[in-house]
Amino acid sequence: MAYLDGIKSVEDLNLDGKRVFVRVDFNVPLDADGKITDDFRIRQAIPTIQYIIRNGGLPIVASHLGRPKANPSPEFSLKPVAERLIELLPEREIIFASDCIGDGVVEQAKRLQPGQILLLENLRFYEEEEGKPRGKFATDEEKAAAKKAVKESQKKFAASLASLADVYVNDAFGTCHRAHASMAVMVPNFGENKGCGYLLQKEIKYLGNIVYDPEHPYVAILGGAKVSDKIGVIESLIGKCDQICIGGAMAYTLLAAKGVNVAASRVETDALDIAKNILAKVADSKCELLLPIDHVVSTALDDTTPCKVVESFSDGEMGLDIGPKTREPYANVIKKAKSVFWNGPMGVFENPRYADGTIAVAKALTECKGNTVVGGGDSAAAIRQFGLDDKVTHVSTGGGASLELVEGKELPGIEALRIAK
Ligand code: AMP
Repeated sequence: MAYLDGIKSVEDLNLDGKRVFVRVDFNVPLDADGKITDDFRIRQAIPTIQYIIRNGGLPIVASHLGRPKANPSPEFSLKPVAERLIELLPEREIIFASDCIGDGVVEQAKRLQPGQILLLENLRFYEEEEGKPRGKFATDEEKAAAKKAVKESQKKFAASLASLADVYVNDAFGTCHRAHASMAVMVPNFGENKGCGYLLQKEIKYLGNIVYDPEHPYVAILGGAKVSDKIGVIESLIGKCDQICIGGAMAYTLLAAKGVNVAASRVETDALDIAKNILAKVADSKCELLLPIDHVVSTALDDTTPCKVVESFSDGEMGLDIGPKTREPYANVIKKAKSVFWNGPMGVFENPRYADGTIAVAKALTECKGNTVVGGGDSAAAIRQFGLDDKVTHVSTGGGASLELVEGKELPGIEALRIAK
């Protein structure tokens, strides 16, 4: 596992009697009543927390949740996560701290007993976690000054977090592409007493196979809303993949860049040049780019306006899913592949009328005998929604992080764990 060379596993750390800061990614979706709608990320971090306890460690678990704009923001409290942890770990005592730094938390950390878990309140209640100033600024100078100030106070915030524990464990794969206070800035305070948890190891193992040593044919399926979010990954995949199948709204920006009339489909007009550039790179490569040849369209995105399958668009129609003639070749290349990476739905899968393209891709993945990896975000939610998640090799907990890894970028959260030789 070359990518993890120089990085300790939680199993290499001396945990006995030690307070262990465990950075997890409990950024879970909540409904309007504040109930967790998908606890996948919480369940995925449990083996590491249990290992720490079994080996005499005292876990202090920390995460962010959502994008709070103030401290506190009750709608982004980790309290529902504490309640879910109580259900998932009935044999453990979960103590919820109403803050993530300060005298009260220091006291709670000191008093922690074997078998107990201290869960800190949302790290992002502090702007120092992300190191970005909040609010509006009248001038660029004011903004630059605020940025500088928050970077300075970030060091103090990171030191306060670090003062809670003796050992640092990162199991927050979904946030590893962010150099935030709890992901990177606080980590040097632990010297060599730092390492990665089981979830991080699992993610690197499966995504690493795809990034560094993919067996061919290697097929990428990319969908979702925007081309502009995925330029880096598309460009990198053009040089590595045998085929890239595109669906979702991003297909319409690429089709528009080819001069196809896509009527009222969602097109990123300011990304048309980027899309043209991508098409030119594909033309110069050995990679084949598959774009939709038919579409499920409607004139409105609701449950009553009629929808139909078309091969060319009429005025007012928008493409909301890939059509059956597109699904077939996509499924065929997926089934024959030895490595598959999938990120992004093929249509507005949240509405069952536009979910068939995404279902077809998910099913094809389950029929592929190669290494099939689903890269987080909406595609991970979709494959779980269809009940097919246990029939693929790996479903990542990280959308942005898995894209950056597949793109070949270094992830700051992982680099912070590396011990210099
Ligand atoms: P992303 O976060 O980029 O993976 O985008 C996921 C979102 O893209 C989902 O909420 C989908 O509903 C949306 N989406 C997928 N296909 C389309 C489409 N053809 N038109 C509009 N939105 C779409």
